[in-house]
Amino acid sequence: MDEVERFYCQSYAERGLMMKHCPDCGGNLVEKKGTYRFMPPSNIPGGMMIVPNAVWLECKECLYQLLPSKLDDELDKIAKERTRK
Ligand SMILES: [Zn+2]
Repeated sequence: MDEVERFYCQSYAERGLMMKHCPDCGGNLVEKKGTYRFMPPSNIPGGMMIVPNAVWLECKECLYQLLPSKLDDELDKIAKERTRK
């Protein structure tokens, strides 16, 4: 999965924490806690985004990630701050 695909995965965010299986491969999703690192698409400057104390779901099989809306909002906020003119 490339960076741009990962970015669009965030559209699953609303359903994120209610999903038990990976929409991609059907594998089990596990809850991850800790520092979330995300490399945004190249139209967003500043490089890696880092959100401490985050919670998200990750597929054990293919490492597909589902972000809850809280984390999604957090990344969105960082992106807006970076792209503000
Ligand atoms: Zn998967």
